Amino acid sequence: MRRTKIVATVGPTTSDIDSMTDLIGAGVDVIRLNASHGTLEQHRDNARQARRIATTMGRTVGVLIDLPGPKLRSGDITNSEVELSLGQTFTLYGTEVPGNVAGVSTTLPALGSWLSPGHEVFLADGAIVLEVLDSDGVDVVTTVRRAGVLRSRKGMHVPHAEQHIDPFTDRDAAALEMAIEIRADFVGLSFVRSADDIEGVRARLPKRGMRPALIAKIETALAIDNLSAIIAIADAVMVARGDLGIQIPARQVPLIQKDIIRLCNIAGRPVITATQMLESMTRSPLPTRAEVNDVANAVIDGTDALMLSEETAIGSHPSDVVRTMAEVAEAAEAWDRHVVTPNGATSADNDKVAWAVAAAAVHAAKDLGVSAILCPTRSGQTARRVAAFRPPMPIAGISPTNEVLAGLSLVWGVTPLSVPETTDPSQQLRLAVQSARTSNLVAEGELVALVFGDSGPRAGSTDSVRIVRA
Ligand code: PEP
Repeated sequence: MRRTKIVATVGPTTSDIDSMTDLIGAGVDVIRLNASHGTLEQHRDNARQARRIATTMGRTVGVLIDLPGPKLRSGDITNSEVELSLGQTFTLYGTEVPGNVAGVSTTLPALGSWLSPGHEVFLADGAIVLEVLDSDGVDVVTTVRRAGVLRSRKGMHVPHAEQHIDPFTDRDAAALEMAIEIRADFVGLSFVRSADDIEGVRARLPKRGMRPALIAKIETALAIDNLSAIIAIADAVMVARGDLGIQIPARQVPLIQKDIIRLCNIAGRPVITATQMLESMTRSPLPTRAEVNDVANAVIDGTDALMLSEETAIGSHPSDVVRTMAEVAEAAEAWDRHVVTPNGATSADNDKVAWAVAAAAVHAAKDLGVSAILCPTRSGQTARRVAAFRPPMPIAGISPTNEVLAGLSLVWGVTPLSVPETTDPSQQLRLAVQSARTSNLVAEGELVALVFGDSGPRAGSTDSVRIVRA
């Protein structure tokens, strides 16, 4: 049984009902809809269709709406492209002028007042590197450090300007509104720089009822500086290696991936590893050896989930990619790695009793060799805390509420199980055991651990463990 979750991006090749059915059937846990592409209407339809398919299959599939964030671009080029040579001078204009071999305007007219000599600017989605020589407050004179062809309106990264750019744009506001309307389970926040950016979006969520979990995408150099505070405040984290590898040298990304995952594991925060994991399978039926190693290493690092982008959005073999990822992840899980678990003092939520009870439950479950750990849960937190200790036996997150179950779709090792609603606490435990038996997670007579929050003054927290026979 695979413990690592799979997030797959739906796009043009997977939005028709048959392809999406194949994709979900291949083992996807969370469908990602990337609001940088397509229309909000298409994403709304895809989310509804994914949920209908999952219900028909008796599966729980989470829906993640990924907000676009600010896309910085260089401006128009006369005759649409120009070749920049190593060592030449190139100017970034603060006013709107047609671009040529001498310079180009950008979508950031204030750039001249933010940059100083030595700062780097990345053009053509990171392919071209400029180093700032001088700025008069309006135009920025640079020298070309990595040459290449610049086409009109290509993506631009300016790590030293990041602090001046609000990562939440009008497009983000519209996509967030749609995410709230369709009751998305997760919202991905692009180009987060600090904990305040996450708080800002959280303040826009409904005060009551279902609120999507906020996933902080770590893809800016500033986010790396503020990592601990971001992990403490986000509901989950994504190692967004594509943009991150532009903002910092790509050779540092594997090391930062390990740091982010370790910090998330210690805090008990779900973490997704994303981008180019099986990229060659966008066209090829087989992955490269390097990609197989990359997927396996992310699992060994301790990631909760692995993400597919172009591979499933525009690729030729979307469900094969999911199956390949599932097989590689499952094989990697068998390796006897060093597991990093939460430590009460630094775990992201400060409920020390709940964390201690989850730790004790996993300890007892291992000592007794129970068949499964069953977590009847009202918010999903109990199952999340138990999963953070990475027990070797199956974990069930058990709830009558679809939203709670879908929220667990990202969490390492948790099988979401649906039960009928009841207010009677002992009936709740009986139903939990019964659902674990009917879903073949445990067999009659086997020992199971029940971990739950009692309905006393500590309601909503995890405070009880019971070991029973199924
Ligand atoms: C990334 O940059 O790695 C990423 C996941 O973000 P996006 O796909 O939205 O650019």
